[in-house]
Amino acid sequence: MYDSPPPSETKRPPIWQRLLNDAVTQPAELLALLDLDPALPALDYARLKHFPLRVPRGFAAKMRRGDAQDPLFLQVWPSSREAIETPGFVADAVGDLVKLKTGGVIHKYRGRALVIATGACAIHCRYCFRREFPYGETLGARGQWRETLATLAADPTIEEVILSGGDPLALSDDKLAAFVEALSDIPHLRRLRLHTRVPVVLPERVDAALLGWLSASPLQKIVVLHANHANELGEDLRLACEALRAAGVTLLNQSVLLRGINDSPAALVALSERLLACAVLPYYLHLIDRVNGSAHFEVVETAAGQLMQQIAAQLPGYLVPKLVREIAGESAKTLMPW
Ligand SMILES: *Cc1c(COP(=O)(O)O)cnc(C)c1O
Ligand code: SF4
Repeated sequence: MYDSPPPSETKRPPIWQRLLNDAVTQPAELLALLDLDPALPALDYARLKHFPLRVPRGFAAKMRRGDAQDPLFLQVWPSSREAIETPGFVADAVGDLVKLKTGGVIHKYRGRALVIATGACAIHCRYCFRREFPYGETLGARGQWRETLATLAADPTIEEVILSGGDPLALSDDKLAAFVEALSDIPHLRRLRLHTRVPVVLPERVDAALLGWLSASPLQKIVVLHANHANELGEDLRLACEALRAAGVTLLNQSVLLRGINDSPAALVALSERLLACAVLPYYLHLIDRVNGSAHFEVVETAAGQLMQQIAAQLPGYLVPKLVREIAGESAKTLMPW
């Protein structure tokens, strides 16, 4: 009668996997959870289908109830404003598609190769510059690591591999461990970097299995988190960061400067200070990439420059992030003057 193995032989999915699958995906449910007006204007279904709402319940729990201007809520709420077309806002804002090589490798900058490890994310950030990225066409699901490893092995100028996406930590530990282990056979690689928002929005992801393959890698390890507001950084994340550091990881953070979310000196100062409390240093503060549907998040360059002057007058230098913009065709991220 029973085809599946008895429970003792099946591998139980890790807790984070269940939390990931249990994310809120229905706008009406999120509004109800937060005691918000059910009539708040949302993106039409046809558009929402291409980039649905997705927010882990633990992240939603960090939002203030009854506040439609909550800085965490605004990052995930599919507002009707996304449907507004704005000149200068396009599908591939940073010119990644022309640089894409076999195996999902984007090699734009010297010494560093970025790997689009997956299109999946734990959370959908409405300002995301990859929201229109054609993942399906670029990632050959099966045998993809083999092609990725071959591309990395073929270029001895590559010293650092950056796992990105989507979010690399949306992948299973089995997949990641196999890939990271194979990286250590490529003699010219020295560093492994992860660009991930998962520890911030789902700190449970930093579990023994993840810490296991990370600490086993002989490469130097850097994790660049992505948090935009101090309210995202709870005690759960601080403990996750402590565990990552104990596994030999250097921790940095990148943020996106977002109108109405973190575009005040007080919000940016609080973010830097809270990051330091988690032993994470601020790295980049990005001006948004001008992708379709994100115009309402834009902070113009002059206002961004003024914010930088204000926070630099209040913070130690190591807590002041670099204000950057990604300009297609440049040899590095472009540092903005202020
Ligand atoms: C941002 C980025 C990097 C990393 O750049 P750093 O300045 O070293 O942080 C590498 N590759 C691509 C394609 C990038 O967009
Ligand atoms: S986690 Fe990163 S890649 Fe995923 S939606 Fe948010 S910004 Fe985009």
